Amino acid sequence: MRHFRNITVKEISTLTCDSCGEQATQGDYTFHEFITVNHHCGFGSMHGDGKQLSIDLCQQCFFGMCGDILTVIGPTYESPERFENNTRLRLAARNILLAKKITNKEEETIALKRVNVLWDAQHISAEPNELYQLMDLVFTYQGVSRN
Ligand SMILES: [Zn+2]
Repeated sequence: MRHFRNITVKEISTLTCDSCGEQATQGDYTFHEFITVNHHCGFGSMHGDGKQLSIDLCQQCFFGMCGDILTVIGPTYESPERFENNTRLRLAARNILLAKKITNKEEETIALKRVNVLWDAQHISAEPNELYQLMDLVFTYQGVSRN
């Protein structure tokens, strides 16, 4: 024979974006697109050993913060070759930004391609810094001024 007792189960009813404040409830499709990060900090963490980090972000804010460096795997309309090219392009552009200088035609081409990608993504990206930094480097290399 089994004896039962009632228990209370808690479930998430509403999510609030920690960045923009957007709210979504279980019935909203956006509810299931929220990104949650929970992290337990260990030794050497800049946040403090043993601290717990937690953040809930709507998909727009998450994309604004991380979309440009995100690795997306799985069903995609983008071919694997194109995805790989974009990843290679992003890393090459990062090297140029770290060097803070364009020294040859090849680097100029990389920077211009990356500027194109960033330009297209401008309306959804909250971080246009890379775009402007690369444009400045290209203009410096080409000897023209953005202003
Ligand atoms: Zn948000």
